[in-house]
Amino acid sequence: MNRYVMSFKPNNKKKCKAFCRKRCPFYLWASPMVTDKNTVQIKTGVLKHECTRDHVNKHVNAYWVARNYLEQFRADHAWRIAGIIQAVKSNQEVDISRLKAYRAKSIALRIIDGDEKSQMSRLYDYRLELLKTHPGSTIIINCTDEGVFQAFYVCLAPLREGFLAGCRHFVSLDGCFLKGVYGGQLLCAVGIDANDCIYPISWAMVSKENKDNWKWFLEILAQDLRITDSRHWAFMSDRQKASKAEFFSLCLSPSLNFGNYSMATLLVLIYNCLGVSLLPFTLLYWFWMVMWQC
Ligand SMILES: [Zn+2]
Repeated sequence: MNRYVMSFKPNNKKKCKAFCRKRCPFYLWASPMVTDKNTVQIKTGVLKHECTRDHVNKHVNAYWVARNYLEQFRADHAWRIAGIIQAVKSNQEVDISRLKAYRAKSIALRIIDGDEKSQMSRLYDYRLELLKTHPGSTIIINCTDEGVFQAFYVCLAPLREGFLAGCRHFVSLDGCFLKGVYGGQLLCAVGIDANDCIYPISWAMVSKENKDNWKWFLEILAQDLRITDSRHWAFMSDRQKASKAEFFSLCLSPSLNFGNYSMATLLVLIYNCLGVSLLPFTLLYWFWMVMWQC
């Protein structure tokens, strides 16, 4: 690279001439060796520039940046665009645009993580592999009648059995956005282990966070955790989104066998219908009931 912008003409398998764009005396001729056609040999040329170096170099493109800084991208997936620009400027003395840095980052992450589209097309293979390596797991792929992907639920058997054997019956639920080609949201259920650390139980990829998807997720989770009587279980949610507004009433619904707390359900319904802030009282009553039943 040498920070000079070069032109190549002719440039084919038999011969190549490189010359400086600023028309200084630099040039070189190269062609394959007679004895080894896979090796290119410089036959003649003037290898000294008389021009100044360029700080904008077309040879430093997104692919070049991605490949030359692959180890940094591998070490830091969240390497910021400003950091990439600064690194190229410091090492190569070349300015690159934010768009070029962004493209370099996406190319590098694609090389490291693989192509997201091809990974999604192998979702059923992934399910079979998980079932082979973790027998007894619950891996569900939910599709429409036309075969369009809807949701993906995972509860690995070792995590489930470990949770049931050694953790308190306390489950925290939350969701977050997925920043990928297909978007969607991730719903997850976590517990607390003996070291007060987060213990993953199950997770699901869904199109969006709404009541139907939470209901689908909670019903499978209830089967996985063998919840037949809600008196010994406590659930927690941040309840910050409108789509979760009926979460508590959902947990307390008789269909999930969470239906022992009629007063709590009533308070939640009053909260949902009238917008009256009875949530603290509901939570207090609910946790008191749970702790009392435990
Ligand atoms: Zn030159």
